[in-house]
Amino acid sequence: MSSSGVPFSRPVVAPEATQAVDRVLRSGWLTTGPECAAFENEFASWVGAEHAVTVSSCTAALELSLRALHLPEGSRVLTPTVTFCGAVEAIVHAGLVPVLADVDVETGQVSPHTCAAAAHTAGGVDAMVVLHFAGLPAPVVELAAAAGVPMSRVVEDAAHGLGTWVGDHQVGRISRATCFSFYATKNLPIGEGGMVTTDDGHLATWLRSTRMHGMSQDAWKRYLPGGSWEYSVREQGLKGNLSDVQAAIGRVQLRHMHAWQRRRRAIAERYTAALSHIPGLQLPQEPTTGRHAWHLYTVRVKPTFGISRDELIDHLCARGIGTSVHFIPVHHMPRFRQVALFSARGLPNADVLFRELVSLPLYPALTDDHVDLVVDAIDHARHHRHAVTISQEVSS
Ligand SMILES: *Cc1c(COP(=O)(O)O)cnc(C)c1O
Repeated sequence: MSSSGVPFSRPVVAPEATQAVDRVLRSGWLTTGPECAAFENEFASWVGAEHAVTVSSCTAALELSLRALHLPEGSRVLTPTVTFCGAVEAIVHAGLVPVLADVDVETGQVSPHTCAAAAHTAGGVDAMVVLHFAGLPAPVVELAAAAGVPMSRVVEDAAHGLGTWVGDHQVGRISRATCFSFYATKNLPIGEGGMVTTDDGHLATWLRSTRMHGMSQDAWKRYLPGGSWEYSVREQGLKGNLSDVQAAIGRVQLRHMHAWQRRRRAIAERYTAALSHIPGLQLPQEPTTGRHAWHLYTVRVKPTFGISRDELIDHLCARGIGTSVHFIPVHHMPRFRQVALFSARGLPNADVLFRELVSLPLYPALTDDHVDLVVDAIDHARHHRHAVTISQEVSS
């Protein structure tokens, strides 16, 4: 175990996935078809939404959900700066302008205060993307009100939010469109893939067309016996559909989600119990209401810890323990400094967090022994602040 180390992420794959893929490969239908339709139904009922539409990624889900708002080109969309770059690029691809909001240092998410400030800086915003960072529930309704955005123009980035509950509401039907990711590191890994959930039947129909070039009838229906070859294109679409091979994996994985979520929670609780006595480490908050999906376990390395966040990462890396940083704020990237609007005074809370954040390994396959190894390595790091540099000198 310790010789191979603890990777930052390791996708969990249900053993039945192999048979499911085999069944689809032999079925005579590989692209979007009956498996996608079944996955959509099962996923919609898992999150409690009326409709679910499979897409190729959460990035495609966000782009299409934003385009579905039919806002004039150049309309302004609020997004946290502490998010994945692709989620901001999706706003640009939809013909809209990202407005970057700072985050609260305690939650890592935007707050009503930072939303109001960002909206004010931009002279008002027309829509917003709400992220449930790490799986921590974001108060969607409150944030939208603070930004002055009606709920009909809120899109949720639930790439971390499968299994998150905001109060009594499961993420998936709170806003007009909720976007999920099945990327390899996410709570329901397929490798690649995404989903939009909504209670709006018109939106679901629109998404089923625009995910496939904007074609008026999907291929599955055209190629069914008696299906027609005829189709038209009314508006700009995307090549953003999911394959039945991927959907078959997703269906199998979904059946394990409750068990996997329980394991994620248990790991988070073990980290919190073991790390809470270490000074200078600020641990993630448990929400007072709702439910955390524990996609990430992200800690803050404060100055009182003794070594810097970067030194801690190096130390853990030297012991074979993988970590990551979520996220490099997008206002640090040249691309988004160019295309996004944000306060001339900068986004200082995100800058503070960016120096201090580190995400620890968290996935169902992680054993209690792995967790203890990570905890011991963190404790060791703070007592041996020069250990990394010395061992580097010795080996060079
Ligand atoms: C992973 C991720 C995405 C993108 O998901 P894809 O399915 O890879 O497109 C978007 N937003 C956040 C916050 C993510 O972590």
